[in-house]
Amino acid sequence: MKARQQNMEKKGIHRASGEQPKRKMLSSVLSIGMKVLVIGSGGREHALVWKLRQSPRVGEIFCLPGNGGICQEATCVSGDPKNLEGLLAAAHQLHPDITIVGPELPLSLGVVDEFTRRGLPIFGPTQAAAQLESSKSFAKEFMQRHNIPTAHYAVCTSEDELRKSLGLFSTPVVVKADGLAAGKGVVITPTREEAATVAAEMLSGKRLGVPAARVVLEEHLQGDELSFLVISDGERVAPLVAAQDHKRVGEGDTGANTGGMGAYSSDSLLDQGMADWLLNHIARPTIAGMKQEGADYRGILYCGLMMTARGPMVLEFNCRFGDPETQAVLMRLDSDLVEAIEASVDGRVSDGLFTWSSDASCCVVMASGGYPEGFVGGKEISGLDRVARMENVKVFHAGTTKRDQKFYSSGGRVLGVTARAPTLEGAIDRSYNAVRSVFFEDMHYRGDIGARALKQKI
Ligand code: AMP
Repeated sequence: MKARQQNMEKKGIHRASGEQPKRKMLSSVLSIGMKVLVIGSGGREHALVWKLRQSPRVGEIFCLPGNGGICQEATCVSGDPKNLEGLLAAAHQLHPDITIVGPELPLSLGVVDEFTRRGLPIFGPTQAAAQLESSKSFAKEFMQRHNIPTAHYAVCTSEDELRKSLGLFSTPVVVKADGLAAGKGVVITPTREEAATVAAEMLSGKRLGVPAARVVLEEHLQGDELSFLVISDGERVAPLVAAQDHKRVGEGDTGANTGGMGAYSSDSLLDQGMADWLLNHIARPTIAGMKQEGADYRGILYCGLMMTARGPMVLEFNCRFGDPETQAVLMRLDSDLVEAIEASVDGRVSDGLFTWSSDASCCVVMASGGYPEGFVGGKEISGLDRVARMENVKVFHAGTTKRDQKFYSSGGRVLGVTARAPTLEGAIDRSYNAVRSVFFEDMHYRGDIGARALKQKI
């Protein structure tokens, strides 16, 4: 077994590490009046805080660092989510009963391992398990080892390997840098020559500022994209409702890639048969594979899928809630989020973990002028009071600050205006109705979130 592993590692195939910090059972420490610490500062973290606030078991909520909107619903604590020492210091000071990690970076740096070693309960995967997101080559090789459907690929570490491998691909070719690149590490190239240039620039560091140790070349897949999320306790999984994200900045899926310009969730996205298929062929084998490789995967596993003519294929894994899908997904959650998180940490995830509304939901992202290339912040936001009075609408703040009772933009993505209604059409109408009440200078948003789903229905 060991010889096989050494041999695999020689070929550059890395298994998840076997070291597993021991976790404290949460149910023994949590009753009512729980203290929760949320790490992060975007729309996703605002949605988490908002949902946690609804739990009768939650007392105080802290958010590090939070934003202008989050500070209305939680105590914001200054700090940098990338600084593990600072996160540990905050946890030692605040004594949270549970810490929930929003963004991927602290997970890939090992925040769960560090907290767990010190007996601090935390929700999310370990550093080894988070490699499913932090290394695209690890994820591809893992999927190959465990027969999880994904696009054909080649991992290259030099220009020489690139030249040899590119001949095996038809165009367009998808080129992916190995590490976390905040959405900038994937380029779809129309010719092999362009693929070679982009990949060489990723390897040299010219493209992303830091050299990628490896580049993944991938077959270009066609179909509809779908986000399928599950919660896991390292063994069992329970699905969340599916969502669809809109990554491109422009209407009709045109223009540059962004962190996400909107999302919707509706039961019509996924029927029970397909949900079962995704659980049996993708989510469960992934969790079982991680366990087999010695890295129990606890937390949210986000499967970014392409629904192709050959069946669903995994484009990427994320090891945490997506943004802005979480805003749309949590808008439909009727049960207690804390119960689900506790079940993941304590190892008792089961089918009946979540109760979902049959309502649909829609989240429209309002962005600053210049986003995604850059952005101009500091613009006063008006109309939020009016929207606060609208029924079944919630504005999640992604990049805002509050000064003298006024909100100002402070990020590329500023707000996620989210609504729910019995039909998707109703949820979309409600969101846009609210969007039209909000204003800040140079703002922009897509007018077609969820529109394709409505067209397909007709
Ligand atoms: P990823 O970070 O790997 O999910 O890639 C970001 C986006 O690039 C995805 O949401 C897709 O829109 C697109 N993409 C990634 N891989 C492929 C592929 N093999 N074929 C077509 N599009 C892809």
